[in-house]
Amino acid sequence: RELIIAIDGPSGSGKSTLSRLLAERLGYLNIDTGAMYRSVALAASRAGIDPGEEERLAALCAGLDIRFRQNGDGGLRVLLNGEDVSGPIRQPAISRLTPRIASVPAVREALVAQQRRLGAEGGVVLEGRDIGSVVFPDADIKFYLFASAEERGRRRWLELKAKGFEVELDQTIREVEERDRTDMEREVAPLIRPEDAVDIDTGGLSIDEVLERLLAAVET
Ligand code: C5P
Repeated sequence: RELIIAIDGPSGSGKSTLSRLLAERLGYLNIDTGAMYRSVALAASRAGIDPGEEERLAALCAGLDIRFRQNGDGGLRVLLNGEDVSGPIRQPAISRLTPRIASVPAVREALVAQQRRLGAEGGVVLEGRDIGSVVFPDADIKFYLFASAEERGRRRWLELKAKGFEVELDQTIREVEERDRTDMEREVAPLIRPEDAVDIDTGGLSIDEVLERLLAAVET
């Protein structure tokens, strides 16, 4: 039987990389729900829609088709109405806008419904903040990945530098802490560790070591 696997955790915990690798190893589809919220934020920003305009956001979501394509080289591409937006959705301005767009109930309703459709058949690794708690509370396996803010900030900083963005390490760590606060304290869909999740602290572990733990848990 093809499983529904939920992976939740804060940004920079290694969720995206590990979900992609786990999906590849199992031959499953990887659904990066953060990329879906980022895609709505990108579309809203292009259309000049503000996070306060809930009705316009609802109409925008109704017209968006978000898909994922696993590349041969291991990358996960995000297609927004057919356009590859994998690069643009990672711009710092979009990263700052996304939590505000993701707090709008109409946006969450639209995307949660789409995530349930994409995952309903099983054979999926869904990754996000509320997968095991809200989207698929009956998922076959739930993981909660985390690491300290310093560790996650350092990873984000290396990632941004590799992409050519000029940023300070201290500033990046502060942004991670700030994003944790908005994600955990907001009323709409806060980041929750599901009670029945398998916890993995990824700090000090290599990607391969984490992947082995995930596979071991899936196989038992
Ligand atoms: O995972 P990533 O950092 O790409 O997510 C971007 C933003 O999308 C998060 O800061 C969070 O506000 C939002 N998000 C969410 N629910 C999810 C996934 C992401 O609200 N399931």
